[in-house]
Amino acid sequence: MALTLPAHPDPLHDGLAAGDLLHDLSHAFGGPFHFVLPERFDANLAAFRTALDEAGVEGTVYFAKKANKAAAFVERCAHAGAGVDVASHGELREALGHGVRGEDLVVTGPAKAEPLLRVAALQGALIAVDSLDELSRILHLDVPRPVRILLRRFPPTHTGSRFGLTDDQLDTALLRCAAAKERVRMEGFSFHLSGYDVQPRTDLAGELVELCLKARLLGLQADRISIGGGFAVDYVPAEAWHTFLAEQGPDDYHARKSFSTSDFYPYHSPVAGADALRAILAARPHGTGEPLAGRLREAGVMLLLEPGRALLAGAGSSVFAVQGVKDRPGYGIVTVDGSSLSLSEQWFNSEYLPDPLLLTPHPDQDAAEYRACVGGASCLDSDLLTWRKIAFPRRPRVGDLLVYPNTAGYQMDSNESPFHDLPLPAKVVIHHENGRLRWRLDRRPAL
Ligand SMILES: *Cc1c(COP(=O)(O)O)cnc(C)c1O
Repeated sequence: MALTLPAHPDPLHDGLAAGDLLHDLSHAFGGPFHFVLPERFDANLAAFRTALDEAGVEGTVYFAKKANKAAAFVERCAHAGAGVDVASHGELREALGHGVRGEDLVVTGPAKAEPLLRVAALQGALIAVDSLDELSRILHLDVPRPVRILLRRFPPTHTGSRFGLTDDQLDTALLRCAAAKERVRMEGFSFHLSGYDVQPRTDLAGELVELCLKARLLGLQADRISIGGGFAVDYVPAEAWHTFLAEQGPDDYHARKSFSTSDFYPYHSPVAGADALRAILAARPHGTGEPLAGRLREAGVMLLLEPGRALLAGAGSSVFAVQGVKDRPGYGIVTVDGSSLSLSEQWFNSEYLPDPLLLTPHPDQDAAEYRACVGGASCLDSDLLTWRKIAFPRRPRVGDLLVYPNTAGYQMDSNESPFHDLPLPAKVVIHHENGRLRWRLDRRPAL
């Protein structure tokens, strides 16, 4: 029995798959392309804001920009007055260039260089300080306004993390901030945890609230905390996912490759997106009897969050054309017109597991299931978009399309390069306008 991992049904996606548009775009671009759906981003953003409102918690949502490079999403942030989390000079310029205000930016990332710190400070952005030496670079910036900062807390439950300040370093940092008077505005504390668990986030948030109270004793502002990102996305139904985890093995993959199930992204999450925020706010921080939401209100602490992947749930997919199909004993190898660099899970010894959808311009009736892995158009044995032998409803043919669903969060463009002189996939924005679907390029081509 072939293991399948079909993505959750999605009417907008299914409508696109049934029509001609994706075939036309593949023809027009002559290569792979990604499409992004900004209306989904808007809905996800609104859901996070609603979760804050319902809990009676004042807060701000910052889109973690590293999750996707499309201009369309930053444009939506500017339009909605949302914040953006940037971690490099390039991301800062992109956000400002698309109309996000400097004061709506939070600058994260380790060991930020002086030029980035300086522009961020002049723009009134909030800077999450990751180390004492970064703090001293900030205190030496000669800028005509107080620099807005958060102090990033080393997560005591994630001892392998290379980010944040330890308890001793935090004590030192607080004293330096107090001594620096008008040069800094110490607005609070931050963390970002890997993984998707609720309770560790609630616990650490509770701890950061206490740190705010402690910092205020030194005369510091300390009225907000950022709990970073890590709100899960639910890609596939529970049953398919649990069956897959229990049964998958080397026979399910080309070249009998083996994956460690712990390296897979948790493609099914019972609590995801804005619901994960609700759960974090409703849980009780360790050692306290009150939900986090109440604790925040009582202490007068605002909640900042930096979702990346979760704001992009359902907000884009990747389309490749089949370039060739060949048989191996028991399965086949489909080669597409792009590369595995457009599916970035390989950074994590893993692969992107939701099943790609096979679209054909020439439907036929007498179809039989055909299992195949999916390779890229390169000369590397390691360039597979999918090592898994996917159960396609029939043998793919040259000119068919493979649509990898829900790739906007981290998959589509983090790792892309013009390897082999293959063109980078085009990026198109698809949106509703007066009741019909229209498309445009994400960025205007240079003239
Ligand atoms: C990557 C990152 C995020 C976003 O994480 P998601 O899992 O995409 O929500 C938020 N904050 C910081 C500091 C990050 O490094």
